[in-house]
Amino acid sequence: MNPHDSVTAALAFLAIGLGWLVLRLRREKKEFESEIRAWKLRLEIDFQQARQERDRLLDALNDAFLLVDARSIIRFANRAAYDLFDGRELVGREVREVFLDPRMSEALLHCIDTGEALQSRVVLPQQTSPRGDAENRGTNAWIVNAAPLSDTPDGDPTVRVIIRDVTSEHHTEQIRKDFVANASHELRTPLAIIQGYLENLLDGDLIEDHEVSRRFLTIMGKHTERITRIVEDMLVISRLESGEAAALKTEPFRIRSCINDVLERLESVIHARHAEVVIASNTPDLRLHGDRFYWTQVLFNLIENALKQNPHRGLRIEVGYEREDNDGARLWIADNGVGIPSADLPHIFRRFYRVEKHHSQQEIKGTGLGLSIVKRAIEAHGGRIGVTSVPGQETRFTIELPASSVVVN
Ligand code: ADP
Repeated sequence: MNPHDSVTAALAFLAIGLGWLVLRLRREKKEFESEIRAWKLRLEIDFQQARQERDRLLDALNDAFLLVDARSIIRFANRAAYDLFDGRELVGREVREVFLDPRMSEALLHCIDTGEALQSRVVLPQQTSPRGDAENRGTNAWIVNAAPLSDTPDGDPTVRVIIRDVTSEHHTEQIRKDFVANASHELRTPLAIIQGYLENLLDGDLIEDHEVSRRFLTIMGKHTERITRIVEDMLVISRLESGEAAALKTEPFRIRSCINDVLERLESVIHARHAEVVIASNTPDLRLHGDRFYWTQVLFNLIENALKQNPHRGLRIEVGYEREDNDGARLWIADNGVGIPSADLPHIFRRFYRVEKHHSQQEIKGTGLGLSIVKRAIEAHGGRIGVTSVPGQETRFTIELPASSVVVN
């Protein structure tokens, strides 16, 4: 082989080698590219899954959750947030546009400005609730908790906001405060009277005068009795409200025998008022499943109210009970006395509420707690109570009980 041929062969060999190399590199590049595409796809799927998982978890929260960027634009909102804002558009909107009351966005804007976490408690009237027209609970209360997020993927400052509805806790707290305020007021009056008589007795040497001191002591005794009754009523209410209702001592008993017990206890008052009490029933042997102690309280308070609010002659009280078609029961206590003005009707089951316009409450004993005990005791038995009144004609309290409170014969 001459040298020229061997150069040609070497070049051909080199060309083949290079061609093979190019082909191989091309193939590897393709494989590499398709691998990258597969990775990208996998990453994309993982990212989507992670996002879906995040949304699923955040949607499972009862509290509204928002992510807000440094320009106060909402970037994310969970389902509870959409519910809270009554389905309005949230993502992409400025927080000041979204919150109806500026107090709701205060903590959040402070956090965006300063980077400090902040929590605020906001109590709003119905009109400015974030729930807008959907709000119907009157005053509503919220806890807004805003904190900066540290490691966001794009490095932009982001604030996370949690909004918790604490309206029911707020109402319970309000009721508790009112209860304490009312109870102290109700106790202070008889205590002040007792103290006044005591000071008079001791300071003015009236204690030597037996007749005067007896009179004073009798008055003091009456007011002490009132304090005792208020305290006892408050204890019954707090027992019923503390969830002890779940531990009612339930037993079957004849409603008729419970009514008889109550009428026996009130016999002297019935006699003194010349009142006529009739018992009406188409199922005289009806038996209830319930706590007899509370049922006695219920019937006692309702019948005693009818008696004590109506000191005039001609009072007729009907105590009735019957089985209903749905296997529940209905009880009623009706009287033909002075009645309850319609403006007072919605309030009479409230604690310490007393109708003052048409009768002199100074003369009629009562704590204003009787009907709230009645209502709570009936509700603890799964029932409901309602009242209608046409003053001077008929005042009727009606109790509806579910089948579970009635013993099947
Ligand atoms: P009280 O201890 O004052 O009786 P209640 O809660 O039992 O308190 O009753 C609240 C108010 O409802 C009473 O002060 C009374 O004015 C009114 N009321 C209740 N029952 C009757 C009735 N049968 N007739 C007229 N007024 C009634």
